[in-house]
Amino acid sequence: MFDVLVIGAGPAGLSLAAALGQQGLAVGGLSPAGPATPWQNTYGIWVDELEDLGLTQFLSHRWKDCVVHVRHKTLPLCRDYGLLAKEQLQAHWLAQVETSQVKWQPGTADRIDQVGSYSQVTTGNGEQLLARLVVDATGHRPALIRRSPNPHLAFQAAYGIIGRFSKPPIAPEQMVLMDYRDDHLSPAEQHHPPTFLYAMDLGDEVYFVEETSLAHHPALSMEILKQRLYQRLNHSGVEVAEIHHVEQCLFPMNLPLPDLSQPVVGFGSAASMVHPASGYMFGALLRRGPVLAQAIAQSLDTASITSAEVAEVAWQALWPKARLRKHYLYLFGLENLMAFDSTQLNRFFEAFFQLETDDWAGFLADALSLPELIQAMLGLFSRASNDVRWGLMRSVASHGALLQRSFTL
Ligand SMILES: Cc1cc2nc3c(=O)[nH]c(=O)nc-3n(C[C@H](O)[C@H](O)[C@H](O)COP(=O)(O)OP(=O)(O)OC[C@H]3O[C@@H](n4cnc5c(N)ncnc54)[C@H](O)[C@@H]3O)c2cc1C
Repeated sequence: MFDVLVIGAGPAGLSLAAALGQQGLAVGGLSPAGPATPWQNTYGIWVDELEDLGLTQFLSHRWKDCVVHVRHKTLPLCRDYGLLAKEQLQAHWLAQVETSQVKWQPGTADRIDQVGSYSQVTTGNGEQLLARLVVDATGHRPALIRRSPNPHLAFQAAYGIIGRFSKPPIAPEQMVLMDYRDDHLSPAEQHHPPTFLYAMDLGDEVYFVEETSLAHHPALSMEILKQRLYQRLNHSGVEVAEIHHVEQCLFPMNLPLPDLSQPVVGFGSAASMVHPASGYMFGALLRRGPVLAQAIAQSLDTASITSAEVAEVAWQALWPKARLRKHYLYLFGLENLMAFDSTQLNRFFEAFFQLETDDWAGFLADALSLPELIQAMLGLFSRASNDVRWGLMRSVASHGALLQRSFTL
């Protein structure tokens, strides 16, 4: 029997298994492929999030020149951005796993049952694994975690190319967080859901360019995103010369929170940890994993504790009331963003990225307290253009329930 059985070997599963192993727990891991299977996605993160954790050695690239383009304006961000050296980070967690009591095995989790004080997972091939606690880290379509359905799931979708181009698609040595300019689109196309370019110079004349839909229900198709990317590049006279990798990105932004009373705990996308207004999650994984592992280890010190009791402690560590309140505010922010047309979105981001850096950075990294977050949002309201303010007020009427939950939870 394991102290903790972690299901899934993506960034969430592997990082938490490593953190639990560091706590001296007997940990099992279960995933279809081994934990050393390479992760496919390109993961970006703000450098200060890694600096705060002393983890900047896990950066493969770092940009000082980071900008947002909105119609008629370029906004310098004065904040360094980076790409995670995902192979090194994965190797770091694998090394921790290997030096502690973590045992990985291939397989899928099919169901979970409570057997006395313990949890029993039945795998795809009928094997039964017993643990004092099970952690589901199987991504946004989790194997075991229960939540209420959301028929209006909004998806972030993106189509990206890493490769060489006939000329630089963005300024050399630059990272473009968002380019919302849409003068390459016809007036009719400008009425369709807005998309933006996310792009970076990877050095050696290789660039990553990705056309992104921040959030939409239903998800924008890869065909539309690909077509928009090529339209944008063609408009600047840029042709794709070599394709090294194509990234197709699709994940929900407003996955409902899990049922926090269930006897299995989630981590990562499975636990709705993706930031609803930005789509980022890595910083949260790095910050919250060790805290969760410690809370689990402490509660497992009590020999007689049941899976349900440990899970309750773990859910509390992951989603304390203060964080839940902020989460509802981010969800409210997301609803605003989805309701804006292209002009409002351009004006919104113009105001957002002209806030004090600590304010917009704290919003995106979930690093502000609730009062600070409210203060930042009020600052944004006072800076925004009238059409954006009007949109925000309309959202209060249509999505006021989210605001109410932030204040009355
Ligand atoms: C293309 C893309 C780009 C992204 N870029 C960024 C970014 O730049 N920055 C950022 O912060 N976030 C980014 N995200 C968001 C988020 O960080 C990623 O989705 C991240 O991979 C989620 O990690 P995870 O471990 O929770 O889930 P996943 O990475 O989805 O891993 C799930 C794991 O569970 C396993 N599994 C699934 N079902 C079962 C089962 N039944 N039994 C056992 N194992 C199972 C899978 O094999 C896999 O190992 C991006 C997401 C995508 C899709």
